[in-house]
Amino acid sequence: MSIAHSLGFPRIGANRELKKAQEAYWKGDLDQPSLLSEGKQLRSQHWQLQKEAGLQFVSTGDFAWYDQMLNHSLMLGAIPARFGDHADCEDIDTLFRMARGRAPSGESAAACEMTKWFDTNYHYIVPELYKGQSFELSTTRLVEETREAIDQGFNPKPVLIGPLTWLWLGKIKGEQFDRLTLLDEIIDVYGKVMSRLAELGVEWVQIDEPILVLDLPNEWKQAFETTYNKLQNKDLKILLATYFGELNGTTTTVVNLPVDGLHIDLVRAPNQLVTVLDRLPSYKVLSVGVINGRNIWKADINGIIEQLHDAKARLGNRLWIAPSCSLLHSPVDLEAETDLDTELKSWFAFAVQKCKEVSVVQRLLDGDQDESLQSDLQQSNEAVRSKQTSSRVHNSVVQQRVAAITTGDDQRPSSFESRAELQKGALKLPLFPTTTIGSFPQTADIRRQRRLFKQGKLSEAIYVESMQAEIRDTVKRQEALGLDVLVHGEAERNDMVEYFGEQLDGFAFTKNGWVQSYGSRCVKPPVIIGDISRPEPMTVAWSRFAQQQTDKPMKGMLTGPVTILCWSFLREDVGRQTSCEQLALALRDEVVELEQAGIGIIQIDEPAIREGLPLRKEDWPEYLNWAVKSFRISASGVRDETQIHTHMCYSEFNDIIEFVAAMDADVITIETSRSDMDLLDAFEAFSYPNAIGPGVYDIHSPNVPDKSWMKQLIQKAAKKIPADRLWINPDCGLKTRDWPEVELALKSMVTVAEELRAELA
Ligand code: GLN
Ligand code: ZN
Repeated sequence: MSIAHSLGFPRIGANRELKKAQEAYWKGDLDQPSLLSEGKQLRSQHWQLQKEAGLQFVSTGDFAWYDQMLNHSLMLGAIPARFGDHADCEDIDTLFRMARGRAPSGESAAACEMTKWFDTNYHYIVPELYKGQSFELSTTRLVEETREAIDQGFNPKPVLIGPLTWLWLGKIKGEQFDRLTLLDEIIDVYGKVMSRLAELGVEWVQIDEPILVLDLPNEWKQAFETTYNKLQNKDLKILLATYFGELNGTTTTVVNLPVDGLHIDLVRAPNQLVTVLDRLPSYKVLSVGVINGRNIWKADINGIIEQLHDAKARLGNRLWIAPSCSLLHSPVDLEAETDLDTELKSWFAFAVQKCKEVSVVQRLLDGDQDESLQSDLQQSNEAVRSKQTSSRVHNSVVQQRVAAITTGDDQRPSSFESRAELQKGALKLPLFPTTTIGSFPQTADIRRQRRLFKQGKLSEAIYVESMQAEIRDTVKRQEALGLDVLVHGEAERNDMVEYFGEQLDGFAFTKNGWVQSYGSRCVKPPVIIGDISRPEPMTVAWSRFAQQQTDKPMKGMLTGPVTILCWSFLREDVGRQTSCEQLALALRDEVVELEQAGIGIIQIDEPAIREGLPLRKEDWPEYLNWAVKSFRISASGVRDETQIHTHMCYSEFNDIIEFVAAMDADVITIETSRSDMDLLDAFEAFSYPNAIGPGVYDIHSPNVPDKSWMKQLIQKAAKKIPADRLWINPDCGLKTRDWPEVELALKSMVTVAEELRAELA
């Protein structure tokens, strides 16, 4: 019999129990023993679910109070000095202080940085590396949790993030140095942990080295050989796991490493199966990731069995079956979706169901004749079949429209210079026009109205009236502040993607499809289930109403196609580009109708454009080409006089600046205040041709920005960008702030703009 296993299970709990317990603990509403026992219970439940699903191992090491990378930093004793010389690595408050800057006990300090885990929406706590840093085994949490599983009668396979991946993802603080010089001591710690695990009687340990799919320098590729030579332990077998892509020029090295098994991701990179099979030494196990760990669709079991036919014939029991990556990236349990219609439910699989699918594939490949397997197979076939023909998935009108896109569709009628001239005449804006990014404070009252309306406890008429009252108030306040380009404030929007997804055909929503984003924060992405179209205008009535309240230009506000795409679960039957172009066409219609409703400035937000980048640089241009084209399609249906804005949050622009320029937005607003305008260097170096609004104050902080500070920032910006192409605005939307601080901040911002105009006059 071969093995069915998972690379990791989501830790948040089917009802976000972990989140609730953590937050209660941070607030002081739950004591530490209760928090610890909640964690213990969740681990136990998750092991039980994996076992019941038919997996031969349960995973340990996938549980974390905040983040699994942070767990490894603590295991290595890699704790920055600001958290104290003798920080107690076993105390979860140490961990919370590193993650959040504070914990119920101990002194606060600046939290560690957080960043995205590869191309997922999960964020990890970035390890801090120092020259001459030393490492020692500082917590045995993994060993304890593994013992816990054994004591409860489970067969655990502990999961570690590999030493090279941990080191690569860290960030050097202070003096630069070659981080590989830290490797030896790190390996020693891993060696100790592995010995302890072996003492417990563990047979297999999984070591994740996802950096093997990235562009790695040669010395890093070579470091794998020395590292895994040193990590050998005669009492413990190692499964080396890679995921999120294809082994990148390292296949020969990797298959020959002195480990007992290799896991590869066949969902993202199915073609690597043949190469790996041809080179795999005959004593090794090959674990194939065939169930998508990053999406919510039920698997095509038949297709997978066919795909694995040869591999099974060659490897027999040495072929293991698994999800492509850890199930951390999928929601927990589809059974909790009580409101989903039966058809949709029959198409989806969450983590619990995915574990079962892994087991079904393994048993079918092993020739298991159990009848229940036939019914699982049938359900999978039925899902495949019904999706192929369903009108919820396929809309020929949309498909024809995408097929008919021509080169002209992504072009404004005239160049930026000519448009700018016409827009000047139409909009009559002063030098250094002031504006905001879209949202204004989402007060408790606004959220309550929205909730009541959604629950059907408020009639549409009353809801619309109360939102209109909000808009009227927001417009008045902006007029009083003296802003030049106003916004309606986005009171009617819960979330910038969900709001549009709910109004577009081709989307579905889950009730409980939460996925951990970072720490206690979970997101519930919309699901793109089929061809996307816009049955009705989405924002036009709100924007028209807002424009009627003022003589100043009112900016329409949309979320761009790439951002909607990046923050949703995707289809598996078509590529990202197809869904993106469909979104682009739907948004284009909205943009055109906004223009017809008298809206002269329309902002199409694209904060996610950078995070959609593929993991490997060689794949960037292809993505950027269709991403930029999609944005342009959405923006190009309007007259030259209509001004298109876009907005991006904090983003490294250096290596994508030509594509940002190619978006050809008349105005781009970006987050620059925290980088002291340094992000503008990329725009200056490239001679970015269009107008820019570099954010002049950080909206993440409640502090009211200092006037001279903002002025100095704008003056700095004016050295890099010609003054007649500079706008003045905050870094991002203001929905998380309160009115009093927003009004003070914007008042100062407007005054600064006025002073600068006067100085130049
Ligand atoms: N228009 C959005 C807002 O102001 C933009 C948010 C974002 O960039 N993430 O809230
Ligand atoms: Zn933003």
